[in-house]
Amino acid sequence: MPAISGRHFLQIPGPTNVPERILRAIDNATIDHRGPEFQKLGQEVLGGLKHVFKTKAPVVIFPASGTGAWEAALVNTLSPGDRVLMCETGHFATLWHGMANKLGLAPEFIKGDWRHGADPAAIEARLTADRKHAIKAVCVVHNETSTGVTSRIGELRKAIERAKHPALYMVDTISSLASIDYRHDEWGVDVTVAGSQKGLMLPPGLSFNAVSDRALAAAKTSKLPKSYWGWDEMLASNKTGFFPYTPATNLLYGLRESLNMLLEEGLDNVFRRHDRHAEATRRAVRAWGLEILCLNPAEYSSSLTAVLMPDGHNEAAFRKVVLDNYNMSLGSGLGKVAGKMFRIGHLGDFNDLMLAGTLAGVEMGLALAGVPHKKGGVAAALDYLIAAKAAPGKKQPAKLGVA
Ligand SMILES: *Cc1c(COP(=O)(O)O)cnc(C)c1O
Repeated sequence: MPAISGRHFLQIPGPTNVPERILRAIDNATIDHRGPEFQKLGQEVLGGLKHVFKTKAPVVIFPASGTGAWEAALVNTLSPGDRVLMCETGHFATLWHGMANKLGLAPEFIKGDWRHGADPAAIEARLTADRKHAIKAVCVVHNETSTGVTSRIGELRKAIERAKHPALYMVDTISSLASIDYRHDEWGVDVTVAGSQKGLMLPPGLSFNAVSDRALAAAKTSKLPKSYWGWDEMLASNKTGFFPYTPATNLLYGLRESLNMLLEEGLDNVFRRHDRHAEATRRAVRAWGLEILCLNPAEYSSSLTAVLMPDGHNEAAFRKVVLDNYNMSLGSGLGKVAGKMFRIGHLGDFNDLMLAGTLAGVEMGLALAGVPHKKGGVAAALDYLIAAKAAPGKKQPAKLGVA
């Protein structure tokens, strides 16, 4: 690799750019995790997380990637052979479904086209048909990171209620928490799964379960084996700010800083910023004459945008041109859409000029790679960003096509 000046643009939808403030916070001496200084840190982060999940329930922190928190959600609440209803929204939903199979559960998969979110009517119909309540949990990915489609978690809860079904409701918010509005308590979610390296702006290595009273009750009779992932010892230690095994102390320094940053900006402002950058990105994509993978404007993701390549053009070759020439990483096509589309991450520590640079890199890359497109995508995005600054009070159409 030749030496490259300037900084790398990490525009994959996670891990995201880690801000200086968080890097500096992590860069401190590791302390005794059984001592009084740690106790204060533990209490601060365990308390602060509740605000981000919008919950009064406990939030458990694992030293693990998001996949670990997926496993913890299942093994703490369910028993071998339990039926679980899952929705095929994309690659990550497919991986979670695969994990449920490996753990000895009996997942049912509501088929999807990878261009829509989980369907409330389909869930209601399946749960209504399950008169004996064999289904023990409904598992949904809030923001499907492989497709840029956001499922409507509040509406899905209403569908479960209409079916009068007691199944637990589990939601993966790994690429939505602290980027897209999410409400653990209000939406009646029993287990929320999250990770550190996306909206929370941290390096990879922490993951989370927010745990409702119903989930805690289910944990009492759950028979899947667990030790490391067990909530019981974790919650018992967390009561005093400690952990049952060595926590990722330095990442917790970073988490404390992340929570401070989110509080300073205000969660609603964080969500509005993500909505604005997503809409500007979609305007650029349309001006290029390219197609957005997500087909329902009410389900457009504010964390990332997945863009279909024109026929005969491979996403991997295009991304290589962008990386080699502009030192920017874009997201690849995952699973069954590999080769067919690329993903622009616009979540985490991000601002208008970073987005402008990102979109400029895409537009120049399309030209260099010989991908058919129209000029003017960056200009269309800038016009939208300027209008948002010129009339900050005026409500911008956050999502085209939705009033
Ligand atoms: C990133 C991601 C995962 C996987 O998380 P890891 O931290 O890689 O284990 C799962 N689900 C979604 C929605 C994701 O975005």
